[in-house]
Amino acid sequence: MASTGDNEEEYHSSPEEAEEGGGDDVDRMSFRSASNESDNDAGADDDCTYGDSDSNDDCTYGDSDSDDGLYDEYEEEGLEEVDDEGGILDEMRFTATQYAVLTMDELRARQEEHTARVADLIALPPALAAAVLRHFKWSAQGVWERWFSDERKVRNAVGLREDGSALSRAVNDATLTCYICFEVQGPGEMRSAGCAHFYCRGCWSGYVRTAVGDGVRCLSIRCPDMACSAAVVRDLVDDVADAKDAKRYGEFLVRSYVEESKRLRWCPAAGCDRAVEFDGEKCTVQLDAWCACGHGFCLACGEEAHRPVSCDTVRVWMEKNRSDSETAQWVLANTKHCPECRRPIEKNHGCMHMTCSPPCKHQFCWLCLGPWEKHDGGNFYNCNRYNEAWAEGKYTEEELRRSQAKVSVDRYLHYYERWAAHERSRQKALEDVAALGKDGSQREAVAAAFGVVETELDFLEEAFRQVAECRRMLRWTYAFGYNLDDPAKRDLFEDLQSQADKSLELLHECAEKDRKDLVAEAAGVRGAVADKYLEFRPKLSSLTAVARNHFENMARAFRDGLAEVEVDPAVAARRAAAVPPPLPKDDDDDHRFDDLRM
Ligand SMILES: [Zn+2]
Ligand SMILES: [Zn+2]
Ligand SMILES: [Zn+2]
Ligand SMILES: [Zn+2]
Ligand SMILES: [Zn+2]
Ligand SMILES: [Zn+2]
Repeated sequence: MASTGDNEEEYHSSPEEAEEGGGDDVDRMSFRSASNESDNDAGADDDCTYGDSDSNDDCTYGDSDSDDGLYDEYEEEGLEEVDDEGGILDEMRFTATQYAVLTMDELRARQEEHTARVADLIALPPALAAAVLRHFKWSAQGVWERWFSDERKVRNAVGLREDGSALSRAVNDATLTCYICFEVQGPGEMRSAGCAHFYCRGCWSGYVRTAVGDGVRCLSIRCPDMACSAAVVRDLVDDVADAKDAKRYGEFLVRSYVEESKRLRWCPAAGCDRAVEFDGEKCTVQLDAWCACGHGFCLACGEEAHRPVSCDTVRVWMEKNRSDSETAQWVLANTKHCPECRRPIEKNHGCMHMTCSPPCKHQFCWLCLGPWEKHDGGNFYNCNRYNEAWAEGKYTEEELRRSQAKVSVDRYLHYYERWAAHERSRQKALEDVAALGKDGSQREAVAAAFGVVETELDFLEEAFRQVAECRRMLRWTYAFGYNLDDPAKRDLFEDLQSQADKSLELLHECAEKDRKDLVAEAAGVRGAVADKYLEFRPKLSSLTAVARNHFENMARAFRDGLAEVEVDPAVAARRAAAVPPPLPKDDDDDHRFDDLRM
């Protein structure tokens, strides 16, 4: 088989990422569906005297020190008329319309339409035009710029005949011998890739099957004749391959369209086959996209949605989580092996007197690993071997290393556990969204307790959606906090984080505990807590708005400079090895952390 031409490389390295003249025939996702929010029931909103504020720019993050302060805020806010069209909401709507979510069928249609347009432009059959387009990474602009300036060169690189032929395949009109199997075939029984090399259908079919088995390479195959570089394109494949191979070839073609184009990205969620098309030149801007399957991911780096922190922060953090060096350090800092039975022993209290678990029960000294009975009066200061070794400087380095590793790991675990706990809480909130949403398992019971129709409960579902989104954002601030060195920024960061956290805890508690208490109080009697519902609903709606504002403020602060703090991988690596900064004070949020564990 002929190899690809020398010109191939030259073409691939050329600039070809300019804007395509793409059409817009697939519906853009609306703001609400793209950001995973449900529409409110318009009728129900009339009851809400506090106003259904979606945005309130007056709400700043530094204005409340206590839970009471936040509650005041919600009360004050309720009295204001809030302009629904302003600020944050507009910003989010703008962001969400920067991409479209496409199903497999829509992708196929998009690709065909795109190909047909280019085929018209360069007067080739669509199958050949697709080969040309693919050469330019599916950029119509790339084709436009290069085809008309040097058509011959492009034809050469793609494997089209230089004589201007537009044949994507040919059929023999005389009896010929197939030069693969050497059988003689009558007219109409053989095919070529538009060139002079005809083979029987059976040989072509096997040729295509082998190529498809090799994966995406099947899109680049050429005529089987070693001296010929004619491209084998879809028309010929559809003609000669069996249905299964032709289908797989078609799938590789769509895959190529998504994976080689700079404007498209697959949704990375397991089992999802949708793709997101960015409404610009390249998917390199940091933008969270929400797929119709519910998964959110960053268009620039492909990691899960991570607003407000940068792709760099996420990359460094995920690398840290992946590396097992921390685990190794943790083991180093916390475990030794029982000198009797070799079982790993974890030291989790200060005493040096270790007792191995049954059946061994061996008692030994943590410092010297010698039998405990040799230690006079059970005092480790009487550990002679240790004292001697210390005097000689023998144990110093190792013990120092252990204690440093312990501090380093503790600090990492502080951030990691919160990062992980917020995700667990987010998943729980998403379960509540499902249970309280349309056709949810709890919707009927809750509506009955309040004595309202089920459609009125959309505000409750929205509250949990907000909780989930806040948990997601808060989660990533811990990845950021771990790598934050600048003390000036740390103060602002921790203030933002704790304000956002407080507004979230108030919201989550109201949505979860207050609601459950009310339903329990109603004890199955329809409308038993109808009067309390009249207070509950506006309170929860306002807490939802307050939390949203706090988090949007936090996101804005990140965007306006906080996120400019350099996350240098070298610094991160050095930190793992050296003595780290002291642990953040977390006495007061320990109980909150426990709450997160569900
Ligand atoms: Zn043959
Ligand atoms: Zn050929
Ligand atoms: Zn998806
Ligand atoms: Zn990213
Ligand atoms: Zn033991
Ligand atoms: Zn000892």
